[in-house]
Amino acid sequence: MSDRATVPHMTPDEFRVLGHRMVDAVADYMSRVESMPVLPACKPGDVLRQLPSAAPHAPGGVAGWDAIFADIERVILPAITNWQSPHFYGFFPANASGPAILGELLAAGLGVQGMLWLTSPACTELEMRVLDWLVDALDLPDAFRHEPRHLAPGAKPPGGGVIQSTASDATLVALLAARERARRDGKSGHLTLYTSTQSHSSVIKAAMIAGLAANPEDRTHLRLIDTDHAFAMDVAKLEAALRTDLAAGRTPVYVCATIGTTSSTAVDPVDQIAGVLRRTGCERTWLHVDAAHSGSALICPEFRSMSKGVEHADSFCFNPHKWLLTNFDCDCFFTRDRAALLGALSITPEYLRNSATDTGAIDFRDWQVPLGRRFRALKLWFVIRHYGVEGLRAYIREHVRLAALFEELVRGDDRFEIVAPRSANLVCFRLKAGDDATRTLLERVNASGRLYMTHTVLPAVGYTIRMAIGSATTQEQHVRAAWDLIRQ
Ligand code: PLP
Repeated sequence: MSDRATVPHMTPDEFRVLGHRMVDAVADYMSRVESMPVLPACKPGDVLRQLPSAAPHAPGGVAGWDAIFADIERVILPAITNWQSPHFYGFFPANASGPAILGELLAAGLGVQGMLWLTSPACTELEMRVLDWLVDALDLPDAFRHEPRHLAPGAKPPGGGVIQSTASDATLVALLAARERARRDGKSGHLTLYTSTQSHSSVIKAAMIAGLAANPEDRTHLRLIDTDHAFAMDVAKLEAALRTDLAAGRTPVYVCATIGTTSSTAVDPVDQIAGVLRRTGCERTWLHVDAAHSGSALICPEFRSMSKGVEHADSFCFNPHKWLLTNFDCDCFFTRDRAALLGALSITPEYLRNSATDTGAIDFRDWQVPLGRRFRALKLWFVIRHYGVEGLRAYIREHVRLAALFEELVRGDDRFEIVAPRSANLVCFRLKAGDDATRTLLERVNASGRLYMTHTVLPAVGYTIRMAIGSATTQEQHVRAAWDLIRQ
């Protein structure tokens, strides 16, 4: 009996037909998403109830795909939160784009596992090249490049970039590298970490995973530094915390600054933080910059005041999967200290040994927590080639223009107030009538299905609505319609 009689593989020709049909389904979704409610009208358990409790035993084979396509329409689409809707203003965006989707398709089709240079040279070297391009495009330090422009003859590149899955992973690997550097410096004992009260929860989580904080409330190891009136880290308070810890014989290992905090896109002053580290003799304390969302704006020269001082950072990350047209997952992480990173994460069992590794080839498994890795550089390559740096700049500028327009509309209505400085594409506002009125407004607007925004609570302000304008398809008419709905 042939293999085909028992294992119903999809032949390349069958794949071609079904693949075209799936691309049609995705293109149809792109055309329809604007008219779909942003939030699905569904309750917990609704999807589960429509799915059989046991897996099918008999093969559905090619003939079964009509039913699969029908189920996508019947079960999946009605229960989708439409992140790609032009009316999606919640959280931060999760951009998708045609070029990136094609990159995902090709990566899946090639089925490459890029853990070592050997297991797919193109996967590693395209990633090196594309990340070097981004160092230039965002005007990041030369030391973040795999091929620095200023390297003494014969010297080894000190740093480089790598795609991590998420900014949370980037925060964690930076912390592991920080601890490794401290270990190499002969520092042990009580290690301390610093970040602002407004930084993302992934910093606390990383400290817990690394065993450097016992629990989320462990302030004896993790110092949460208060922020100023603009919700940026108060550097005087950072300096005081560092001095107290140094005087008590503790070792500050890690500072995480944020360019674009989650609640309000506040920008920590990286240059001043680096100055504090120098003044307090903490030059070896690892400075990581989390620019998960707002980092994409650095592609435009006019927004680079946000990254002032980044040349002093040991590492930096941003997420093209948020605001740079590249489907999740894609976090670009750069470091100037590859040795500390590899010291923390590199291990070579016999079964991975090969001559390319032995002669110094880059194995990106050593730059991340997992062993395996997908060919994510493809989608980034397609995005950059399709849009070009100029096209990406125009894209970011339009969202920032729309955010400025929205801010102006809010300011023009004296029932509302803007409650945080707008650094890029996020507008934080509320009703002067207070928390309850603001919460009720948000709930009513979101329940309409016509747009979706989320909230935060800002210190000394209270309940705040966040309008994050960054969906790939959002245009001025959508923003004006959103404001009309909100003010009504
Ligand atoms: N850092 C900041 C500033 C964020 O805003 C976010 C998410 O919004 C994260 C980190 C976490 O991102 P990820 O989902 O890539 O881990």
